[in-house]
Amino acid sequence: MVLYIVLTFDDLTQDMLDVNDILRSAGVRGVFFINTAAIVSENEEGIVRELAKNHEVGSHSHTHPDLTKLSIDEVFRELDLSKQILSKIVGKEVKSFAYPYGAYNNTVVEAVKRKGYIVARTTDIEPPITRIEDPLKLPVLFHDFLHLNKEAVENLLRKLLKQHYTPTTLDEVWKQVVENPVKALNTILKLLENQEQEKDMLAIILLHPWRVRELKTWRDLEQTITTAKTISKTITLEELTKSTHKTKQEKEKK
Ligand SMILES: [Zn+2]
Repeated sequence: MVLYIVLTFDDLTQDMLDVNDILRSAGVRGVFFINTAAIVSENEEGIVRELAKNHEVGSHSHTHPDLTKLSIDEVFRELDLSKQILSKIVGKEVKSFAYPYGAYNNTVVEAVKRKGYIVARTTDIEPPITRIEDPLKLPVLFHDFLHLNKEAVENLLRKLLKQHYTPTTLDEVWKQVVENPVKALNTILKLLENQEQEKDMLAIILLHPWRVRELKTWRDLEQTITTAKTISKTITLEELTKSTHKTKQEKEKK
């Protein structure tokens, strides 16, 4: 059985190019979610173009608002404008989306669908999934953002460690989450490696390149990406939707 990992990176900053270098030397493709209002000059446009050479580029809205707090027209504008800008730079229609702050509700999800996006990533934490319930509400295994809570990490560890779970392990991992989330992710991925798998599993990861810079954890990022590559088949959301589509067609043939 296969473990699939999707490595996603949010928020356009120059740091995305450093991530690009690390991914490229590991031979891994990632997904970069771009908030298009951050494209203010030829420089940022060049970054996106560079990323698109090796990786998938998706929309992270235009101005990075909490979409649940906007009027429907404003939500449509965020979705349309970012899609339009990115599709033009990348040279093909961008169909992947990541909710800013992970914030969504039914109205927002419907709008994302209506505007032609076929996958959308949330920041809801879940252990690796064996089936996609809703491609517009994809959960993550782990994210490095500040609203990650200890309870979510506890649930994750309980699920991964089963009878080997102890509160001490939680405290150790939680300390890493606070000080060095990229290292915490590496620890969690190593726990995943020992999982017994009866079915194919999917784990989506979210990291913010600017946080890796602020916390000076580039070395840890290299190690974590190496771990991901060792224990899984890394895949983009584009490839994921193509393969699930294909499986459906094959099933229909039978
Ligand atoms: Zn963001």
